[in-house]
Amino acid sequence: MIEENVKKILAELPCEVQLVAAAKTRTPEEVLEVVEAGVKIIGENYVQEARRACEVVGKRVDWHFIGTLQKHNVRARMVAMFDMIETVDSLEIAREINKRCAQIGKVMPVLIEVNSGREPQKSGVFPDDVEPFIRELSAFENIQVKGLMTMGPRFGNPEDSRPYFVVTRKIFERIKELNLPNVEMKYLSMGMTNSYRIAIEEGANIVRIGSKIFGER
Ligand SMILES: *Cc1c(COP(=O)(O)O)cnc(C)c1O
Repeated sequence: MIEENVKKILAELPCEVQLVAAAKTRTPEEVLEVVEAGVKIIGENYVQEARRACEVVGKRVDWHFIGTLQKHNVRARMVAMFDMIETVDSLEIAREINKRCAQIGKVMPVLIEVNSGREPQKSGVFPDDVEPFIRELSAFENIQVKGLMTMGPRFGNPEDSRPYFVVTRKIFERIKELNLPNVEMKYLSMGMTNSYRIAIEEGANIVRIGSKIFGER
């Protein structure tokens, strides 16, 4: 089932769009199955879960952190394991990633999570604050900003997600034109099972898909 789902999605995605398999709550064996079906990037929400999966799957794929980050989760071992952190949304977390990466001599590619719906209870930087935030991050030597990520609604009519993606895309383009030092606006990570087709129409080049690959949680 998993293999079939992966093959169908990979066949459907335009070749410039990267698939992240969102693996939260799945077993290491399920993660291994998606890797064997051809997935190149695993998205993890929890550090412990990621570690268990990584012990089974190994470093033949890239590991993206896509969960809510707390300062105490950002350890040297954590930054050593992940190839990208997609959910940077505060200076405090950025500073911690920078510090841990400096300890192990690594530059971490990061995406800035945008709270494109301006919902106070959600994580992410508000649209108006993204540019000043990225300007501050460009001073950190062990972090490189590689683009933006946004969530949008998980359920409901996929069309309802479009305005969230449009807002994020506009910020992405504007910041790209600024050519800020140590900032390379390359990745736009938007869209999940429900909304990835709309996200791609609006310029996403990373989609994060869970249930359509693994089944409902
Ligand atoms: C769970 C999750 C996804 C995937 O959601 P599905 O609806 O299962 O495809 C994508 N991004 C993030 C950040 C997630 O936590």
